[in-house]
Amino acid sequence: MPDLFIDGTWRAASDGGTRTISCPADGSTVGTVDEATAEEARAAVSAARKAFDAGPWPTTPSPERAALLFRLADRLAAEKDEVARLEALDTGKRFVEAQIDMDDIVGVFRHFASLAQSDVGRVVDTGMPGVSSRVVHEPVGVCSLITPWNYPLLQTSWKVAPALAAGNTFVLKPSELTPHTAIWLVRTLDELGLPKGVANLVLGSGATVGAAMTDDPGVDLVSFTGGLVTGRRIMAAAAPTVKRVALELGGKNPNVVFADADLPAAIDNALTAIFLDSGQVCSAGSRLIVEESVHDQVVAELVRRAGQIRLGGPFDEDAETGPLISGDHLKKVQAYVENAVAEGAQLLVGGTTPDDPALADGHYFLPTVLDGCRSEMRCVQDESFGPVVTVETFSGDTREAAEDAAVALANDTIYGLAGAVWTENAGRAERVANRLRHGTIWINDYHPYVPQAEWGGFKQSGVGRELGLAGLEEYREAKHIWHNTKPAKAGWFSDTKEDA
Ligand code: NAD
Repeated sequence: MPDLFIDGTWRAASDGGTRTISCPADGSTVGTVDEATAEEARAAVSAARKAFDAGPWPTTPSPERAALLFRLADRLAAEKDEVARLEALDTGKRFVEAQIDMDDIVGVFRHFASLAQSDVGRVVDTGMPGVSSRVVHEPVGVCSLITPWNYPLLQTSWKVAPALAAGNTFVLKPSELTPHTAIWLVRTLDELGLPKGVANLVLGSGATVGAAMTDDPGVDLVSFTGGLVTGRRIMAAAAPTVKRVALELGGKNPNVVFADADLPAAIDNALTAIFLDSGQVCSAGSRLIVEESVHDQVVAELVRRAGQIRLGGPFDEDAETGPLISGDHLKKVQAYVENAVAEGAQLLVGGTTPDDPALADGHYFLPTVLDGCRSEMRCVQDESFGPVVTVETFSGDTREAAEDAAVALANDTIYGLAGAVWTENAGRAERVANRLRHGTIWINDYHPYVPQAEWGGFKQSGVGRELGLAGLEEYREAKHIWHNTKPAKAGWFSDTKEDA
């Protein structure tokens, strides 16, 4: 069956374009998919435009839209293992992690279905006789949804669920490296009876398909998750027609450890913060910022445990983390470490590919710790998106001075996605958390999120918010309707003829 879904029809690319997807863990072939041309991306936008302008989806009662999303969540829960297997093969991530992702995704669809169920406008009481005034919600229109490869279906669910809940139509483009779960999603929506043209799927590269989805005048909103450089391009491409833009970009996330922290817990979480999914997590704790008095103790333990992490493929039950997504990405991470060493960082563990012959066909990189790092170094400022943590230290003669020093380092980045603070002092925890300029702050924890709470970046980590109530707001317009039941002349200007 062909993989492009445009205007309710599954089709192959007109130029016969395909791409073979390989598992990053061992290079085995996962499948071959059809890839769209730029013209097909524009045809998908036209189909979504027609479906939005002619309906019926935008005016379908929101409880009915909610019911479809609940049914989608049920299907995913029922087919969880099969979809998790597709995701694990495309990304190389551990099957158990992909299973957890599926549980999260079920929760995301149910969350937005619940919001749609209770999506009501409000009456504005003007206190003026004969006038009624109300705010109603309307969908934004045609949405271009563009997602990355690290959490393919999760990132997609954060966009598709609110877009559908609010009554929009969309064109979806997953990363060219990880298309299979997006195909499952759109097939399932089709089977569940979503009206023709509401969901459209185009696979292919960002430069052709993605670019057409961002500059086409038929698009009202572009929601993008991916790298900072691509995000800047998308914002520029969307500007001439003033599209709404939601961007979830990269992070250089500080993980701040004070000497008064529960150190075993802080160290254990510092490992999860950076080595989960081999660091290919936007909120990865890639900057460990440690109080000087406990630096040696923390770093020695971090290095010891990083050196023990077992690498392996999706179905290797002993594996604790997996490969990088591609050979190109592996080269970038390797170059990042080499540059860091060249600029003075001390490589304490990792820094290269493993020599285990069983891993030779995959894109593996060893968990890596770089010590002696300073804010002005590139390795502290640039996202590596690999299993590499930089260590910086801070100190202060007084309580205030230590906190000021930690906060100054943690905020010294163009990014602002997420961060954590570790301390047993509750007052300090609150003070520091309040001062960190990052969109999500964990206190004595790392990585958890819930769909009920907003997710989004400060500074150059993004524009707009996903999840929570704000997630739905991104996909709808609030329209104020003022109804004067006693129309009369406005009376601002004299009618000179009458006056004469
Ligand atoms: P990327 O920017 O290379 O690609 C993301 C998507 O954009 C892909 O589908 C790609 O094909 C498409 N694309 C590329 N060029 C395009 C263009 N000119 N026009 C339109 N689309 C284009 O990112 P990636 O390598 O797939 O993902 C890794 C990045 O994603 C990291 O920087 C990571 O921090 C970020 N990320 C952020 C979040 C978040 O919530 N903030 C979540 C996950 C990943």
